[in-house]
Amino acid sequence: MSDTSLRDAEQLAEQVVRDCGLTLPVDVLGLAQSNGILVSAKPAAAMGVSGMLLRSGDDFAIGYATHVRNEGFQRFSIAHELGHFYLPGHPEHIFSAGAVHESRAGFASGDPIELQADHFAAGLLMPSALFTKEAAKYSDGFTAIEHLAEICKTSLTASAIRYSEITDAALAIVVSSRSSVEYCFLSPAMRRMKGLNFLKKGSVLPRESLTRTFNQTSENISLGRRVDDSTDLQLWFRCDDEIDASEEVIGLGDYGKTLTVITADADDGDGADEGDKPWGQPQFRYR
Ligand SMILES: [Zn+2]
Repeated sequence: MSDTSLRDAEQLAEQVVRDCGLTLPVDVLGLAQSNGILVSAKPAAAMGVSGMLLRSGDDFAIGYATHVRNEGFQRFSIAHELGHFYLPGHPEHIFSAGAVHESRAGFASGDPIELQADHFAAGLLMPSALFTKEAAKYSDGFTAIEHLAEICKTSLTASAIRYSEITDAALAIVVSSRSSVEYCFLSPAMRRMKGLNFLKKGSVLPRESLTRTFNQTSENISLGRRVDDSTDLQLWFRCDDEIDASEEVIGLGDYGKTLTVITADADDGDGADEGDKPWGQPQFRYR
């Protein structure tokens, strides 16, 4: 799946937001209703199913799982199914084998159709124009992310990933469990840091990092504790220069993972060309 088609999916969602005059938080239920789509909560039939789209003739219905009691997760699930409804070619593709399409959280590595629907969901719930305007009201880092999650009614993780795409700050989002990195997203300014080493999935958290220490106590995660401290970008990314930064760490509760936001203090790393994406396209998670 090319970056362009993922970007297209996002832009189609943003166009829907504009055409329908939607505001934050985007009313996904209202949008479904205006398309004659019935939406209902469904107990999860199978583990891992986050939502489904059903078709009967010209009629569509969405079911969304409630086993994760998190409004952001549920809204993202509904928005993902709306993606299958709106995106060109999706209904034909997903209903080629039957009348029910099931979506699964956490699949993000694979199916391009699912990835497109995820990007549609992100664009729908966090349209860049409205999202950027809100983000500008808060100071860089976790403060902005937390407010954006409240305003958009999206999960902290989805909001953090989206924020990393639009912020001018040099910032990294790291989701980890125990001592290893689950995934990492860098803002454009961060990607321009000289000599920066990207944290791949499965790589080990820096030994002296606050996040590594935090993750050693499981209650920190289950109770959603938060801590922060100063750090250095070299410690995390082995970049050429020592650059002061802050490290904000948040336990994600029953999700069992930790969100870390690393924000550089100084405005470094200018001069490199914009728009190169050495780390590929972000893949959205549900929560
Ligand atoms: Zn799907």
